[in-house]
Amino acid sequence: MIKFENVSMVYANGNHALNDVSLQIDDGEFVFITGRSGAGKTTLTKLLICEERVSSGRLEVNGFRLDKIRSWRIPKLRRTMGVVFQDFKLFDKMTVYENVAFAMRVVGAKSKLIKKRVPFFLDVVGLSHKSNSFPTELSGGEKQRVAFARALVNNPDTIIADEPTGNVDIEMSEGIMELLLRVNKLGKTVIVVTHDLALIREYKKRVIQIENGKLFADKNGANFGIDDVKAASIEEKEDELEDLK
Ligand code: ADP
Repeated sequence: MIKFENVSMVYANGNHALNDVSLQIDDGEFVFITGRSGAGKTTLTKLLICEERVSSGRLEVNGFRLDKIRSWRIPKLRRTMGVVFQDFKLFDKMTVYENVAFAMRVVGAKSKLIKKRVPFFLDVVGLSHKSNSFPTELSGGEKQRVAFARALVNNPDTIIADEPTGNVDIEMSEGIMELLLRVNKLGKTVIVVTHDLALIREYKKRVIQIENGKLFADKNGANFGIDDVKAASIEEKEDELEDLK
């Protein structure tokens, strides 16, 4: 379970990235997190994996209290989560197989298990035939699938995908969504961070909209439309006008 209670986050330079956010994502849910650029989506994701710390409030993720977690426990927390970053973060000097295996090695998995799981997950994402290729020899969509295999290989409870449809064509983006839905059916929590309004409307899942560092809306994607995006910009204008007073 993921539970934000009055969470605020201020960067060292004084930027207020999140402001009094409260929300809960239950185990096994599929949610989209959306909001315009600069809204606070990346910050929220970074808080979940403890790449940044909350400034105030209470944050619970998969049984860990992140507002007071000791640094030695952070790797344990991260084992419960698989993240597919927008820029994939693959190692160019390692083969596809090695990139996925590395994620298991760093958490101390036994080589017998690595030899079993890596080919299995490369097969899940349809990349068995590219095991020995290097990332530089792959297309954007293929690199993304390696990143997915790596996110899944440690059997995490939660998968976070950052703009998964951002850099791929429509067909590929459908494939990625199918994969995420399948993973969700296995009981894993799936969080998709996206700007993609068409995607949100098509899949009719829960949508959490962050604007200006605040929770702006929490509704079903079927009811999410261009008006919600417009409403966010109108509200921002009102805030700006308020500031000018
Ligand atoms: P999003 O992912 O929705 O585009 P971010 O979480 O990246 O939004 O940013 C939220 C706010 O925090 C923005 O005002 C941004 O400028 C600021 N911000 C993001 N990262 C940093 C950082 N490392 N230091 C200072 N301010 C930051």
